[in-house]
Amino acid sequence: MALKIYNTLSREKELFTPITPGYVGMYVCGPTVYSDVHLGNCRTFISFDIIYRYLTYLGYKVRYVRNITDAGHLEGDRDEGDDKFSKMAKLQQVEPMEIVQKYTLGFRHVMQLLNNLPPSIEPTATGHIAEQIQMTQQLLDNGYAYEVNGTIYFDVEKYSKEQNYGILTNRKLEDLLEGTRDLDGQDEKRGRLDFALWIKAKPEHLMQWPSPWGMGFPGWHIECSAMSKKYLGKKFDIHGGGMDLAATHHTNEIAQNQGCYHTGPANYWMHTNMLTVNGTRMSKSLGNGFLPEQLFTGNHPLLEKAYAPMTVRFFMLQTHYRSTLDFSNEALQASEKGLKRLWDAFETLNKLSSTTEKAADAELDAKVNKLVADFDENMNDDFNTAKVLASMFELVPIINSIKDGIIKADAIAASTLALMQQKFKAYLEDVFGLQQTGAANNNALSSVMELLIDIRKEAKAKKDFVTSDKIRNQLSAIGISLKDEKDGGVSWSA
Ligand code: AMP
Ligand code: ZN
Repeated sequence: MALKIYNTLSREKELFTPITPGYVGMYVCGPTVYSDVHLGNCRTFISFDIIYRYLTYLGYKVRYVRNITDAGHLEGDRDEGDDKFSKMAKLQQVEPMEIVQKYTLGFRHVMQLLNNLPPSIEPTATGHIAEQIQMTQQLLDNGYAYEVNGTIYFDVEKYSKEQNYGILTNRKLEDLLEGTRDLDGQDEKRGRLDFALWIKAKPEHLMQWPSPWGMGFPGWHIECSAMSKKYLGKKFDIHGGGMDLAATHHTNEIAQNQGCYHTGPANYWMHTNMLTVNGTRMSKSLGNGFLPEQLFTGNHPLLEKAYAPMTVRFFMLQTHYRSTLDFSNEALQASEKGLKRLWDAFETLNKLSSTTEKAADAELDAKVNKLVADFDENMNDDFNTAKVLASMFELVPIINSIKDGIIKADAIAASTLALMQQKFKAYLEDVFGLQQTGAANNNALSSVMELLIDIRKEAKAKKDFVTSDKIRNQLSAIGISLKDEKDGGVSWSA
């Protein structure tokens, strides 16, 4: 089966057909860096990391753009008040860009601990003000925006006469209007659903830029439109983010792009479901957010223990990205056990060997082949990681029984065993991005040892025995011994 993706736009699973064969352009709304990311945010970024990894595994060249929102995120949805960066900077008495720097670095560190691959491009909103001004100007020129006292609004009413504004979440304009409050005398905007593209800044506003309409700062929605257009073009393949972004942020992105370029930005809109705590969405504003660091240290009154980053990642993978996932100690502890069981089976599997060309137990051989083929089948079915893991867990007792001799080694063909070994490795490490505890350290140590052995070899060749002895002795002092092999190579043990 070829890859199918559930598209929020059509509300169906669609066959994935990229615009350019072999290449995928993907934009994912990134974090708002005025505070730490919580575990809910991490769920969305892990989900898209898996999608990125799987597309790459399928052989696509992927340009994955995930922005950093570092300006223009207003309090509430009324296009009013300070942006959250300025507010935080005032509170902490620092420059807004110090806030941005601190939380961007924190975000990247967490992504690395969770083994999310860095995106191909990570543009910042503040680095693309010119593009946002240009797009706002284009919307004014095309008649989809208007200016009031230095603030530019998108004219949703005008747009709705030509286009279906609520297309993404399948809502009618009347229903949308019903959900908004009436305009009062203080409002500058003409329509209740109109939103700001560019906002006039008060003199005391900390982050502001010159524009054709005076000093101001961008609205949140225009940032993503300008950055996705710049790096992926007017139309690209996949646009993603958490489900909570569909109704407003992404709805407005579509309107902006249509108003500017007469096309929506993406062919496939993907939305991840929410991480919840006792059934309530984890969110910054509700204050029920668990920070990754609290999980990794166990430093939170509601946590029974610390959980490793890979346990957290595995916990996320055990549920399909479009289902809600409830956070609990029991679920995390079950994930910890499950992951260990899987790694143990993986190690056992790698030690098994067979030379049998024809399987002695054809039925079992077929079953194993089917379960392994299901890895790709289930990922092709809208990235169903949960079902892939279920197939893996079905294979675990078979692997263990072969090891224990309960199932004879020749029961399955050598080719079946090799395929199972290859797919387990590809999925656990490449597609799911799981790392065995300590593996990262071991890899680093191996590289450092290779380097030291090389330097020692060069020193010996130059008869610089002071250096070569120093390397051997100092390594020995920290418990690492070098052994000169007969074939001229050098091995080491710790
Ligand atoms: P923010 O930094 O708040 O803009 O959020 C960054 C990303 O995390 C967005 O794609 C949100 O939709 C997503 N997100 C926020 N809360 C949750 C949650 N509880 N579960 C999953 N994703 C979330
Ligand atoms: Zn966005």
